[in-house]
Amino acid sequence: MIRHVLWDLDGTLLDFLSAERAAVKKCFAIFGLGECTDEMAARYSAVNVRYWEKLERGEMTREEILPGRFREFLTSCGRDGGLAERFNLEYEERLTDTVIFLPGARETVEALRGRVVQSIVTNGNKIVQIPKLRASGLGEIMDHVFISELMGAEKPTRAFFDAVFAELGEPDPGEVLIVGDSLTSDMLGGVNAGIRTCWYNPAGKPNPRNIPVDYEIREISRVTEITGQ
Ligand SMILES: [Mg+2]
Repeated sequence: MIRHVLWDLDGTLLDFLSAERAAVKKCFAIFGLGECTDEMAARYSAVNVRYWEKLERGEMTREEILPGRFREFLTSCGRDGGLAERFNLEYEERLTDTVIFLPGARETVEALRGRVVQSIVTNGNKIVQIPKLRASGLGEIMDHVFISELMGAEKPTRAFFDAVFAELGEPDPGEVLIVGDSLTSDMLGGVNAGIRTCWYNPAGKPNPRNIPVDYEIREISRVTEITGQ
C-alpha cells in the first residue's frame, strides 16, 4: 500500500523541455543575439542536462552550474560567453512564462488528491520553481513541496531524503513511492532512500547503468494503479 507519492516536477509533471526552449529563444531576442534555431535550443537542453548531472554527482556547485551552462552554450553558438551571468538571470525569469503539464499529469495528481499524501521533490531553483508551482496550481494540490536549494541537499543524496522523511513524520519506506523521469536523481535517490521507485520513461529510453526500478511507465496515469487507488 502506497501512502506517500514523491513527485519530481520537471519532465515528470511539467513539460520542462518546451518551457526551457521557449525561454532560451526569448533571451536570444532580449539580448539581441540573433536567431536561436531549434537546433541551438536543443543543444542548450543537452548542455543543461550535463551541468545538472555535475550537481547530482557533487562535482560543481549550484552557483557554478547556473552561469556555467550558458557560458558553454553561448560560446558554442559563437556568442559572447561573458553574458552568461546576466543571461542566466533573464532566463530564470522567462522560464516561468510557460507552464505546460505533460499528458495526464494534472488529471493524475487531482485524482490522487486526498487519497495519498503528495509531495514535490525537486532539484530546481527556488526562484524558478516557486512561481511555477503557483502558476500551475500544483502548489495548492500538493501536501508538501521540497526544493533542494532550500534544504541544503540535492537528490539523489540520502541527506535530501532524510530531510523529506523527517518532515513527513518518518513514514514506513515501503509505503513511499518516488515518481520521476531521471534515473540519476529520482531513481537513484529512491534506491538510496530505500523506497519504491517508478521511472516515468515515455520515450522508452535505455537504462545504461541498470539502476534498479520497481516500476517503469510510459503514461503518468499508471501511477494511480500502482498506488492501489
Ligand atoms: Mg525531472
